[in-house]
Amino acid sequence: MNRQYKHLFFDLDHTLWDHQSNANETLADIYNDFQLFQLSEFNVSEFQDTFHKINHGLWHKYHLGLIDQDYIRNTRFKMILSTLGIEIYDSDMELGKEYLSRCPRKSNLMPHALEVLDYLKVRYPMTIITNGFAETQEIKMASSGLIEYFDLVITSEQAGWLKPHHKIFDFAVQHAKVSPAECLMIGDNPSTDIEGARTVGIDQIYYDPEDRNEGHQSTYRIRSLLQLKEIL
Ligand SMILES: [Mg+2]
Repeated sequence: MNRQYKHLFFDLDHTLWDHQSNANETLADIYNDFQLFQLSEFNVSEFQDTFHKINHGLWHKYHLGLIDQDYIRNTRFKMILSTLGIEIYDSDMELGKEYLSRCPRKSNLMPHALEVLDYLKVRYPMTIITNGFAETQEIKMASSGLIEYFDLVITSEQAGWLKPHHKIFDFAVQHAKVSPAECLMIGDNPSTDIEGARTVGIDQIYYDPEDRNEGHQSTYRIRSLLQLKEIL
């Protein structure tokens, strides 16, 4: 146990909850259920790749404050289908709703997540800090079994600020009743999770499973969640 730290903060998507696998499963289900292969000659993996490219761009704009959640929800699938060459498809809004309702119910986690959380749970109180939609994140936490490991789930909606803004971290520190120096933030996003925590004096663990590194500064960098057991 690392006595320097009294409270751990975790990001949710791509850090514990395997967003990529869960999204891909959901998109494959939707592709088949809505018979999207009848619309044009794109296959499941083109559908998935296009989704991730467009979704990534939209979330980037969301983090910059350029668009809101409704914009993502309402236009995501129209943009995806348009990129795949389908300009008119009346059910694009319905696809968006289906995706939002089905994806959070998927339960794939990042490798070793539960084993590591079992180890940490008896040693540290833990909080989730996430920029995702509040109701979506709650469903993910419940359906994947993550909820039982965390004292608190802080969403940007609830805090009123998005990571990396210092106010969401201040809010979390206040709720944890500790000082920033006693906390540790674990996340996969070098700007929202890592830089955000650093600006308020919270140590950070950059979870970088794909070894992107990209020269970011962090207190620790890990490629597997298992390495948390060595640090903590
Ligand atoms: Mg993340």
